[in-house]
Amino acid sequence: TQAHLDAMGEARALNAYVLETPEKALAMADASDARLAKGEGGPLEGLPIGVKDLFCTEGVRSTACSKILGEFAPRYESTVTANLWRAGAVMLGKINCDEFAMGSSNETSAFGPVVSPWRRDGSDAKLVPGGSSGGSAAAVSARIALAATATDTGGSIRQPAAFTGTVGIKPTYGRCSRWGIVAFASSLDQAGPIAKTVEDAAMMLQAMSGPDAKDTTCADIPVPDYRAAVSRGVKGLKIGIPKEYRVDGMPAEIESLWQQGQDWLKAAGAEMVEISLPHTKYALPAYYIVAPAEASSNLARYDGVRYGLRVPGRDIVDMYEKTRAEGFGREVKRRVMIGTYVLSAGYYDAYYLRAQKIRTLIKRDFEEAYSAGVDAILTPATPSAAFGIGEKGSGDPVEMYLNDIFTVTVNMAGLPGISVPAGFDAQGLPLGLQLIGRAFDEETLFATGRVIE
Ligand code: GLN
Repeated sequence: TQAHLDAMGEARALNAYVLETPEKALAMADASDARLAKGEGGPLEGLPIGVKDLFCTEGVRSTACSKILGEFAPRYESTVTANLWRAGAVMLGKINCDEFAMGSSNETSAFGPVVSPWRRDGSDAKLVPGGSSGGSAAAVSARIALAATATDTGGSIRQPAAFTGTVGIKPTYGRCSRWGIVAFASSLDQAGPIAKTVEDAAMMLQAMSGPDAKDTTCADIPVPDYRAAVSRGVKGLKIGIPKEYRVDGMPAEIESLWQQGQDWLKAAGAEMVEISLPHTKYALPAYYIVAPAEASSNLARYDGVRYGLRVPGRDIVDMYEKTRAEGFGREVKRRVMIGTYVLSAGYYDAYYLRAQKIRTLIKRDFEEAYSAGVDAILTPATPSAAFGIGEKGSGDPVEMYLNDIFTVTVNMAGLPGISVPAGFDAQGLPLGLQLIGRAFDEETLFATGRVIE
């Protein structure tokens, strides 16, 4: 823990942490030592980790990287972090992310962007670590956290993992409790870890998951032994290769990485089968209706009365307006406006209802592939390697949204997805491959991911 705290002090230029909690970390580490001395201790005893600032931590500032939450320090602990502390993990601090987890580059944070520890060969240009869990990915990659918590609504665990050469898994919807995690789009949000290896990710997810009476969408099913699944191998598995993911303009290096992944799995005894997921092309537009719709509703609670920032006004309505105008950033306001529009009378049927119908079709695509005997699906994690800070999306937000093209389908269908580092582009930047599993079958993803990493 002390070594990590020292390294954090030297890596502040990355802006990965928004709050360092050294006293708490050392107290937790001492308590771990005491337990270990007595021959006790959990599966993550004494392991120092970072916590995405979207998770509520008792008595510790939790802001979702938004100005509107101000100095909000909750009186409760999220179930996922409570589970981690019970397993013996030590909290190093709170980690930077996109504001309310809305973004793909960590540039929408009220605390400023995170700088990736990676650079293109022969260039000093600063790159994004991906988002929204950009701080989690950068911290793990820069070795200032052994692992970190993250959340994924449309790719926010898997895309930053791919950009930084780390492993990120979004489990099946319902595997982790959402209780105490700041809500973005409740039907899509899931917690998961970013870690250095598939085995680390398995150990983290094991501790984070499990039934929780405080979240009715949290599944009441036991969590299997993920760590044991890591070394299970892939012999006899059928891996689906969806033809719709071969999108126009896909860089040759992504295409060849995808082929390389198939070759590795074949060599390890798996069989590749071409499959079709015909509604893939509608996933991104449908996601950018469903997610903002739910966000606009979830974010209605930030009214200047209950949490964080309050900007005084002439009367209560004026206070609401001023607080929200000042407290929310540009991207968050854009989502609230889109969401309110697609839910409003007259537009609901044309946009929101249609997007929900598309969601059902996307889910059915996957169900058909799995009922035909496919065990997991292999795709690229992202359409490119990391890009420069300030390079994308300032003129046209859709340019940024296109980053999520391979990841959003998985959230729309509620399935588990893992991103594993698989190679590098021509300029030395990490690239990731994604594996998508059957509902509640994270084990196959760990076994398959282990062969690729
Ligand atoms: N990039 C996507 C968005 O901005 C996904 C974010 C996420 O998964 N939290 O909505």
